[in-house]
Parts: sequence; C-alpha cells; structure tokens
Amino acid sequence: MSNDDPNKTAGDVPWQSPVQPVELGPDSEIQFHCHKGVACFNACCRSIDITITPYDILRLKRRLALDAREFVARYTTPYAMDYHNMPGLKLNTKPGTTECVFLTEEGCGVYDDRLAACRYYALGSMGVRKKESAGVEDIYFLVKEDHCLGHEEPRSLTVAQYRREQGIEKYDEMNREWRDIILKKRSSGPTVGAPSERSLQLFDMCSYDVDSFRDFIETPGFTEIFALEEAERSRLLADDEELLKFAFRFLKQVLFGEMSIPVREDAREKRVAKRKELRAKMTARGGD
Ligand code: SF4
Ligand code: SF4
Repeated sequence: MSNDDPNKTAGDVPWQSPVQPVELGPDSEIQFHCHKGVACFNACCRSIDITITPYDILRLKRRLALDAREFVARYTTPYAMDYHNMPGLKLNTKPGTTECVFLTEEGCGVYDDRLAACRYYALGSMGVRKKESAGVEDIYFLVKEDHCLGHEEPRSLTVAQYRREQGIEKYDEMNREWRDIILKKRSSGPTVGAPSERSLQLFDMCSYDVDSFRDFIETPGFTEIFALEEAERSRLLADDEELLKFAFRFLKQVLFGEMSIPVREDAREKRVAKRKELRAKMTARGGD
C-alpha cells in the first residue's frame, strides 16, 4: 500500500502504475469491498510506502499516549518531499521487512486511528490547481494492485459513500490547508529560490510537532510579535485540533504573507531595535 505524495500532480502518474487513468469525482461509482473475509486480508499492509500527514500524527499520538516528538522518533522516517528538501515523514516498517509497524496477527493494531492513506486505499486522491480557478480541486483515482481482491467483491458505491464509510472526510478537513501549503510551495517553482533553513524548520514543527508548536506560541518571541486574545490563546492551548489549524494559518502567514493572525503594531519597531542592539554589541566585541 502506498499513498500519493501530497505534492504530486496528475502528470506524475507513471505509465505502468496501478493507478487507473480515469479521473473520478464524488458521484462516480466504484466496485470495491475490503473486509475480513477476503483472501488477501492485510496483504496491503505487508508492503507499505506511506507518507504521514499532520492529522495522522495527532490521532496516533493521542491513541498511543505519546507526545508528537516521541511518536515521530519511534514510528517515522524523514525524507525530502521535493527538490527544496521540504521535510516529509514515512511510516516505519517492522525491522528488515516492508510490513507496517502497526500490523498485528489480528489485523491493524490502530484501526480506529489508521492513517489517511489506509482509509483512502484503494482510492488515490490528488489536489490539483486548475488554471481556470484559484482554489484546489480534489480528484480521485482507483488504484488496482494485483494482490488486492477487494475489486472483485460484488459491491458498488460512490466515491462520496466510500469516503464517508472510511471516515476520510475528517482527515481531509484537517489536512486541507497543509496540502494547500505544499502545493503553493511547489507551484512557486525553483525560480523563486530555495526556502530558508528557518522556514523549513517552521514547516517541520507546524506539520509534525504540534506539542513544540504549543510551546512556541507561549514564548516571549511569539507574543512580542503576534497579538492573540487571551481567550483565543487558551482555546488553542487546550485543543490539539484547533492548534494544528492555527499552525497552518501561521505557516501561510510566514511563508506567503497571507495575514490572518493579528500582528502587534510595535512589533516591527521592536525587531529593528533588537537587531540594532545586537549589531552594536557585535561591533563593540569586534573592537575589544
Ligand atoms: S496503519 Fe493499519 S491499516 Fe494502515 S498499513 Fe498499518 S496496519 Fe495497515
Ligand atoms: S481487499 Fe485490498 S485493501 Fe482489503 S485487505 Fe485485501 S489487499 Fe488490502
């Protein structure tokens, strides 16, 4: 089982891919049924290549009673999502195998909190920026791998019904802004220049470490710049999902200048004064 990287486009589908070259919409009918009775049960979990999304981490860290850092360290492997080294994470396999780290004798060991990719399979999805519209449109494909017998089961349903059955909607709702950020980064192309080390670090923290992001919004550095109402701050600190949504707003503001978080009026002057102070200190040291 593999999921498409969120930064792929339809043009990236390889010629001999199991991805069927027919674009599906919410009302398209598919024939598919995965259940414990199929002869291939869990075959897809024995050979995985799964990119992790921020909401996957939220669900699994909660389930496993870990903080985000611990979850990432124990269960994921970093990789570069694009030529600018945008940080991505893959779900780990069991040592020396291609088998999912969460697979047990009885099946998925984290079923109610399984990842977005596991819920989608055997559908593939992509977000595409269509030239004629400003937004991102979701398109779907059927993924037919030889080992998957679910396609032979006598059940038809629409893409929308399948998404509902698998609990995908919540995952998409939570990850949508994140995917949008990746697509925007990608569509800006190499000519805009590589993102700074600092912006890659911020992307990493906002995407995969909501617990560090919580600490970050409590630092004096953050509160000196951003004017969060006390009630808003308390709401964010108490709710991981709200915090994750806020992290994506923060990223959009920092990376693309999409202002949605109020900035203190005197923040710029304070930053300039600090920089001056630092420069003066360095000059004085140089003169010692
Ligand atoms: S998380 Fe569960 S469903 Fe997903 S690959 Fe692992 S065992 Fe299979
Ligand atoms: S039917 Fe397909 S998705 Fe279901 S267990 Fe078999 S291989 Fe996996």
